[in-house]
Amino acid sequence: MSLALPDSFPELIRSTFNSAKESGALLFSESTDKDIVVQDLTFNVRIVPALGQKPVNNKDNDDVEKPKKKFDPFETPEPALFLCSLGEKYSIILNKFSILPYHYLCVTTKFESQNAPLSEDDLIAAWACLQADLDPNMRQLAFYNCGERSGASQAHKHLQFISVSKQPKLLPDVALSYGVPESKDAIGQFPTYHPAVPFAHFVLPLPPNPTGNDLVMRFSSLLARTLNVLRRHEQRDISFNFAMTKEWIFVAPRSQESADDISINATGMIGLMLAKSDEQMEQIKTRGPLELLLSVGVDRVIEDEAHHDY
Ligand code: AMP
Repeated sequence: MSLALPDSFPELIRSTFNSAKESGALLFSESTDKDIVVQDLTFNVRIVPALGQKPVNNKDNDDVEKPKKKFDPFETPEPALFLCSLGEKYSIILNKFSILPYHYLCVTTKFESQNAPLSEDDLIAAWACLQADLDPNMRQLAFYNCGERSGASQAHKHLQFISVSKQPKLLPDVALSYGVPESKDAIGQFPTYHPAVPFAHFVLPLPPNPTGNDLVMRFSSLLARTLNVLRRHEQRDISFNFAMTKEWIFVAPRSQESADDISINATGMIGLMLAKSDEQMEQIKTRGPLELLLSVGVDRVIEDEAHHDY
């Protein structure tokens, strides 16, 4: 499957974002940000006072006695937020509750579960979206929160895209700077990780123009290790975060959705965290971002000692 966004995508997203914001279809929350530096890692914490008002996980609406059909905002995307189709399987829409400008989603047109791993088509769609350069000073980041404990709030399969600063480097960039061990398998490299980060995470670099097969092989290699770690920690359901740029793929297993009332998703696991207030920012600083992320991730010690037996 070969996919591409329209050449006019950067203009399309700017004009649709501005009109949706103006009409009130898109709710943009103002924020400020601060960095916390830990060794050679920088954690960027974005403080968003409006975060407390954002609708939370659909699961909160559960009524045990009388189950209701949960509202699926991606079944029929709001026209004011719709950007374009991507092939027959995907719709590209703006995030209704944006903290960063031009935050958009790639949702499956027919319902698929957010608890399912990414397919080859999903990876090709993600790669196609990453090619749209919305701002030459920024870089594009794709992320996917898979499973009940991953920080996802919607059950309908959706990949997300944001523009992020080129500096400071994210956790996967720094992890790769320690080198990638060679392997004799088809990829030629073993997944690597940051040696000072206590939670399990796996990173592989991407070749310049990956084929669908290149993406699948790398994602499968990271997912296999992730499943292995979850099994060793006797996690009963499969939750993980995925992130991808043009340079790398990252996957980290998850054990908890949040810690200290701080919700963490894929962006948090690579160093881009959200806080509701200055107090919450201080809380992250005091506890330490690595300690906080370890409590929602999975300890990597056992995995390190084990041979990969998948
Ligand atoms: P997650 O919380 O990671 O599952 O991502 C789901 C995203 O969908 C959130 O960032 C929400 O802001 C966004 N969202 C919720 N409702 C809508 C909607 N009606 N249209 C577009 N985006 C939405």
